[in-house]
Amino acid sequence: MSGESPSPSPVVVLPILSVVEPSPPMPSRRLPPWLRQNLAPGGGHAETADLIAELKLETVCSSAKCPNRLECWSQRTATFMILGNVCTRPCGFCSVPKGKTEELELDEPERVAEAARRLGLKHVVITSVTRDDLADGGAEHFRQTVDAVRAATGATIEVLVPDFIGKEGALERLMESKPDVFNHNTETVPRLYRTVRGRKSVYAWTLRLLADAKRLSSEVKTKSGLMLGLGETRDELLDVFADLVDHGVDYLTLGQYLQPTLDALPVERYVPPEEFVEFGEIATSMGFRKVASGPLVRSSYHARDMAEDGRVS
Ligand code: SF4
Repeated sequence: MSGESPSPSPVVVLPILSVVEPSPPMPSRRLPPWLRQNLAPGGGHAETADLIAELKLETVCSSAKCPNRLECWSQRTATFMILGNVCTRPCGFCSVPKGKTEELELDEPERVAEAARRLGLKHVVITSVTRDDLADGGAEHFRQTVDAVRAATGATIEVLVPDFIGKEGALERLMESKPDVFNHNTETVPRLYRTVRGRKSVYAWTLRLLADAKRLSSEVKTKSGLMLGLGETRDELLDVFADLVDHGVDYLTLGQYLQPTLDALPVERYVPPEEFVEFGEIATSMGFRKVASGPLVRSSYHARDMAEDGRVS
């Protein structure tokens, strides 16, 4: 498992401006200039896309219309989304389809492992839709996927998980696979939880899940992310930073919310890059080991860099 640097240096990742959404979630004329940069697909993009199609895998890069897809896929990096492409939560910010869920694909762990191996990934991020319809919320499938990827690649593993609310024993089952990074997004401030994440999601539960993950595996790094621009205030954000630090969270990501579809929540404000820098500096000073803060930062953006805390070389 991961060895730790004796005195980790928190890093603020400055806004990354040289990327573009291949199919912009908003008409580009309405985006501020710092979100309107252009980048041609790099050499690995088609290869990554072909491999994902060949192995019939889902990625959050595509399903969530991530603005960094061109960059990440060009660098042969993707975040795999398991447990289907249909979610049981009606979150107002997300473009992943909602409705009738699909049968679990029992060979999916091996297909994810094969993709990670062929992409040569050294750090693999595995996420999923929320599966409230499954007795364990999909924890066992997660565990099998982590095991398969680790066996095939030796890579460090980051799980970006749903909240498993009401699924007794699910977190314990997942943590048996000893992921290197346990990531669960806070997404927004508590006042906006119901609007942004739907009525089933509970802020206190998010904090508890992050703390419990560390309690179950003392070596795991915990990580969470927030979207800015949904109507939160500065004080509310700083309160969330303090809560996350109090619950032992190591890594924080801060990025601009972008409306992925017309029926998703509107953007209340485009936060300028300099404010992201300021929030990153404040969060770092509050005690996070590492903070990535910028308009296009997403929870899995440059995830390997953030996880490089002694183990990945
Ligand atoms: S930031 Fe994450 S979700 Fe977005 S394209 Fe990159 S790997 Fe995929």
